[in-house]
Amino acid sequence: LQPKIASRQVTTHILKAFGLHMSKKLGQNFLIDAGIVQGIVDAAQIHPGDHVLEIGPGIGTLTQGLAEAGADVTAVELDKKLPAVLAETLKAYDRVRIVPGDILKVDIPALMGQEPFKVVANLPYYITTPILMTLLERRLPITMMVTMVQKEVAERMTARPGSRSYGALSVAVQYYTEPEIVLNVPPRSFIPAPEVDSVVIACRVRSVPAVKVSEEKMFFRVVRAAFGQRRKTLANALRGGGFPKEQVRAAMERAQMDPQRRGETLSLEEFGRLADAFAELAK
Ligand code: SAM
Repeated sequence: LQPKIASRQVTTHILKAFGLHMSKKLGQNFLIDAGIVQGIVDAAQIHPGDHVLEIGPGIGTLTQGLAEAGADVTAVELDKKLPAVLAETLKAYDRVRIVPGDILKVDIPALMGQEPFKVVANLPYYITTPILMTLLERRLPITMMVTMVQKEVAERMTARPGSRSYGALSVAVQYYTEPEIVLNVPPRSFIPAPEVDSVVIACRVRSVPAVKVSEEKMFFRVVRAAFGQRRKTLANALRGGGFPKEQVRAAMERAQMDPQRRGETLSLEEFGRLADAFAELAK
């Protein structure tokens, strides 16, 4: 049996042995709670042979949990010092592949192939939103994403229309997935302890998006415009987002939407209806 990396003692030992200094800039906060690692693995419902893309393996804490559960793990790590460390800390596991690189730049389809896979990660918080948006918008064959994120980001991902946290990220996440908060994780579960509370959120990717729209591009353009200027009415926000005045008026009429409403009160269905009206008018 391999000693678990997810403990204060083992992690501190590894950091010392390799002379590692953790980088705040790279969002490095390593998990030291084996119960949380197991919670993430359980939430991802890992079965032997599952393909998993891990983002930012660090010293291999979560990777080890995934490998123990029988997953085939591809882990992309930006910190150039870490692959040599991982080669040592994960040497007992032959179904782990470490890929040096930036998750926002690597060719994920080339890396993961055509087969369905899961994304499991304790994310670097400085780029949470770009990572999530990249994974969602590229239409990769992802079935499930289980990620550790800042509590406030989890609230945005699960926010309902009209709430303060509701925004473009809420719509994108809920359009593609069914998000569910599975664990609250206190700062003391990491070295070093982050300044914020964390949450593990499981997003099961829907087989078809939550609403049917005629043009997905238009849908997201409308969403971005609507949230671009939050204090304005929907009509003004849409104009501010580059839609011509007359088109806005006509689309809102067609979608039977009160121009005085604010964008942040629209449900996914309503955004869909409005986007379809714009798409129809553009024909
Ligand atoms: N998985 C480890 C754990 O749970 O303890 C480490 C998680 S730590 C919060 C985030 C990791 O992401 C760090 O190892 C960091 O170097 C890495 N990272 C930061 N930016 C990245 C990027 N753009 N692409 C890939 N990995 C990145």
